[in-house]
Amino acid sequence: MSENIENVVIIGSGPAGWTAAIYAARANLNPLLFEGADLQEHYDLGRGPLGQLAMTTEVENFPGFPSGDLSAYLDNAIDDSLRQYMAPHQKHGVSGPELMELMRQQAKNFGTRVITDDIIEVDFSERPFKLKRLEGDEWLTANSVIIATGARANYLGLESESKYKNRGVSACAVCDGALPRFRQKPAIVVGGGDSAVEEADYLSKFSSVVYLVHRRDELRASSAMIDRIKANKKVEIVWNHVVEEVLGNDKDGVTGAKLACTADDSKKELEASGFFLGIGHTPNTDFLKGKLDMNDAGYLKWTIPFRTNTSVEGVFAAGDVADDNYRQAITAAGTGCMAALDAERWLGSQGLH
Ligand code: NAP
Repeated sequence: MSENIENVVIIGSGPAGWTAAIYAARANLNPLLFEGADLQEHYDLGRGPLGQLAMTTEVENFPGFPSGDLSAYLDNAIDDSLRQYMAPHQKHGVSGPELMELMRQQAKNFGTRVITDDIIEVDFSERPFKLKRLEGDEWLTANSVIIATGARANYLGLESESKYKNRGVSACAVCDGALPRFRQKPAIVVGGGDSAVEEADYLSKFSSVVYLVHRRDELRASSAMIDRIKANKKVEIVWNHVVEEVLGNDKDGVTGAKLACTADDSKKELEASGFFLGIGHTPNTDFLKGKLDMNDAGYLKWTIPFRTNTSVEGVFAAGDVADDNYRQAITAAGTGCMAALDAERWLGSQGLH
């Protein structure tokens, strides 16, 4: 291998990217990982470094991290002779940001080199592949690439919604919900899936009331989440309604929303200081358009069943960027592992490892 050609470049820093890095580093592939640029516009779009988990609170469903008093679990389950060497001594389960920092550190411990920058353009037309960074003019070269850029939250696309972004409009209740402007005031959450239900539940800790506005008469969320939200007295579900306009003014930002009923022609207005979106996600594949096969929604296609191969040999995809179905931290981590193993085997088959 030439000195200047990277063996494996990983793009993305969610559970898929870090897991790919851990496996690639342990396989002596000396991976280089681009974790994304530290830009406010990325955070505004919900695609900052460390991915979507960095914008959540406690993670209850990642195996190995039970919710509740983690210290007590370890104290009870592990023999004292081993327990003394174990961290953490904390009274809560792992949070999203903690989990991501732990994965990042684990990847670095095995030698992953991390660059806080974006890859903005790729040339996969010949090997070695070429990758262009946001900073600087030079192109990197790489024998193999793992794409793990994830997905970002969707917005409705209303003019009034853009007008009040960061002035009451947010796609991340967990990031913004505790801000003073939302405390003890009504909030609106749009959507009927797990994200919307989770956001509504979370906001109910701060808001006087949360209106969960859904366009149908049935939630898409998992049954456990539905049970929880229906039992939450501070959440009122507004069935069969879509948002026509986010209401507000220059002084206060968001003041409410105008809704239209999907079951009849009626309209109504809700008062609220916060307007939160929970209406699904878009994969971060803009820089890959025309370079790799994607489905209609822009998710990368795996070209071999249960392998992470993309339409270009030597380029692999892991995590939400190639998953419009499961989209869980654990599935992202799993496919990150698969992508690293697939890359390792492919490099071996090319005599490059
Ligand atoms: P989702 O399941 O695709 O749900 C999106 C919701 O938004 C749907 O209810 C949809 O309505 C609604 N919607 C979409 N476009 C809309 C529009 N333009 N106007 C009004 N409503 C609109 O997305 P998600 O909730 O982000 O969940 C994605 C995946 O992540 C799922 O697999 C979910 O299980 C997972 N997730 C898991 C957790 C957890 O386990 N704690 C938390 C969050 C997400 P319709 O129902 O009418 O289509």
